[in-house]
Amino acid sequence: MSDEVTGLRLGLRPPSGRLETKIRRSGFAPVTRRFEAKRRDRGRDEVTMDKFKDECGVFGIFGHPEAANMTYLGLYALQHRGQESAGIAASDSRQIRISKAMGYVAETFDSDELSRLPGALAIGHVRYSTAGESKLSNAQPILIDCAHGQIAICHNGNLVNAGELRDELVHQGSIFQSSSDTEVVLHLYARSKAGSIEDAVVESVSQVQGAFSFLMLSKDRLIAVRDPHGFRPLALGRLDSAYVVCSETCAMDLIGATYIRDVEPGEVLVVSADGLRSFKPFPSAPLAHCVFEHVYFARPDSYVYGKSVNEVRTNLGRILAREQPVDADVVVPVPDSGVCAAMGFAEESGIPLRMGLIRNHYVGRTFIQPQSSIRHFGVKVKLNPVRSILDGRRVILVDDSIVRGTTSRKIVRMVRAAGAKEVHVRISCPPTISPCFYGIDTPSRSELIAATHTIDEIAGFLDADTVAYLSLDGLLSAVGDERQNYCSSCYTGQYPVEFPRDQKSYLQLALKLDKEPVTN
Ligand code: SF4
Repeated sequence: MSDEVTGLRLGLRPPSGRLETKIRRSGFAPVTRRFEAKRRDRGRDEVTMDKFKDECGVFGIFGHPEAANMTYLGLYALQHRGQESAGIAASDSRQIRISKAMGYVAETFDSDELSRLPGALAIGHVRYSTAGESKLSNAQPILIDCAHGQIAICHNGNLVNAGELRDELVHQGSIFQSSSDTEVVLHLYARSKAGSIEDAVVESVSQVQGAFSFLMLSKDRLIAVRDPHGFRPLALGRLDSAYVVCSETCAMDLIGATYIRDVEPGEVLVVSADGLRSFKPFPSAPLAHCVFEHVYFARPDSYVYGKSVNEVRTNLGRILAREQPVDADVVVPVPDSGVCAAMGFAEESGIPLRMGLIRNHYVGRTFIQPQSSIRHFGVKVKLNPVRSILDGRRVILVDDSIVRGTTSRKIVRMVRAAGAKEVHVRISCPPTISPCFYGIDTPSRSELIAATHTIDEIAGFLDADTVAYLSLDGLLSAVGDERQNYCSSCYTGQYPVEFPRDQKSYLQLALKLDKEPVTN
């Protein structure tokens, strides 16, 4: 999937990187808000692209003298999984210190800030909000001090029963500092009467349902917990004598760590001075790895669920070419995420691959639109067509998904305006018809073009000659022998984790589904 085309920051900049970071880190919001308001006044615009939003990334390390620096680098490699906020908590075995702020990893930390996070243990988080608003109080890690001592937590995923647990806890007197679902786990942990940190972790995590890859940091140990369905990836690696746990292996590559294995679904992994200790305290459940990690979210240079993302993604393109062939002159990917599938499509079809769309990599999340009269400006900021490749050609445009269809239409029209004779859109996953409740931010069902339109209607809307999708069977065959181990709810509307139907959280979900019943 091509990244969100989010525009260009033109002219107006924050009041200086360091100062802005300090203001934000202090939690003193008014200056930031004033800046944001000023930026809006100057005509800030944000292009909402036709894509699912990324989720979160976690990174943890135990036993490295520069744990915070390593975590910073790990988060840097995981930046694609969340750009709203970044944070690191580190322990020197006596005290856990934390730093977090809104913004990109590189904006959030500098060497001075990292030097204030001493110790050999650290966890870090990059966030895109799937539950809770985008604000500093929801940034992670979240650090508390309770009867069990200090503990910090960060989370990739989404807890489907967080709403009802929160209501119960509030009723019993708990005071929440954020609207994040993750904080529920800390309240449950703090209330636990268990005799050890591990037992308190198990007791608290046993009460939550949904998707979670948690990293927790006490003063002297790192604890990784993955939900029994294994929705979100979590990998274990080694860097000399240190252990690393992170969302994707690309973070290990950057720091020179070696992948050992995945943290298994339902596994609690404790890393301490005594080494690794693993146990599986939760009832087992059918596996439900998010197949969309392979379609779009994960970096192609990562291994997730033990498989090369590049290999799976290229395979999607090969199968798509077999299932949905079309006579044409050139295969053109929508960069960057359409590239692997387009390569597979070109290889299988024998039609040459050409980079007919060039991506501007230096685009921020927002931009100031200079003239409303410039048509499709937001897309043009990010992508530019190569006329010499497209002019007079029959083009197969390969992308990984269509959500609303609005951006795809702009891209198709851009390709036509560059002289393409025909435009055939090929999508390397099935039609997206249902929202996700397991850690991916998706629009409501009524906004999903494939939930409300036929393929011919979609082609008409996009202004394409033809549109065709990969079949569900094709998608699952690309991930190999373990197809039954994957979640594909956004393509089927069948959800592996039952929602608490009589609770507020379910009602919220139902509203998101425009009051249509959820099929569990
Ligand atoms: S619903 Fe889709 S995006 Fe969500 S976990 Fe399942 S496959 Fe992934």
